[in-house]
Amino acid sequence: MAQDCIFCRIAAGEIPSAKVYESETVLAFLDIAPVNAGHALVLPKAHYETLWDLPAELGEDLLRAVKSVADAVKVETGAQGLNLMQNNYEAAGQLVPHVHFHLIPRFDDDGLKLWPQKPYGDEAEMRQLAERIAARAK
Ligand code: AMP
Ligand code: ZN
Repeated sequence: MAQDCIFCRIAAGEIPSAKVYESETVLAFLDIAPVNAGHALVLPKAHYETLWDLPAELGEDLLRAVKSVADAVKVETGAQGLNLMQNNYEAAGQLVPHVHFHLIPRFDDDGLKLWPQKPYGDEAEMRQLAERIAARAK
C-alpha cells in the first residue's frame, strides 16, 4: 500500500467510499465527481500507477469486474450507453496515480461530446506510423 495514495487508503478502508463491487483483488466505487450519476471507478486493490505497471495476471479479474459493474451501472441508471476510460500520466488527465478504469453511463441527450478528431497529413503518414507501431506491438 502506498501511504500517500488516496485509492490505496480507500482500499484499506481508511477513507470511506460508495463501494459497488469488491473481490479479493479488485474494488469499485462511485466517482465523487461524476460525469453522470453512477460513474464508477474499477481498480486493483494493490498499488500500480499505470496500465503498463499492471501484471497481466490481474487482467481477468479486472475485466470480470469491469463487465459486471458496467452492466449494473447501465441497468440501475437506465443509461443508453457507457464509456470505458483509463487515463495514464498527467498529459492524459490522470489525477490519481493508482491505475483505474472509469465506467461512465451515457444518455442520448446528455450533451457530452467525445474528443475532437483530426485527419493525418496524408495516407502515407498514417501507414508509416501503423507499420512502426505494429513492429513494436507484436
Ligand atoms: P483520473 O483523472 O483518471 O486520475 O481520475 C481520478 C478520479 O478520481 C476523478 O474523476 C475524481 O473525481 C475521482 N476521485 C478522487 N478522489 C475520490 C474519492 N475520494 N472518492 C471517489 N472518487 C474520487
Ligand atoms: Zn494506490
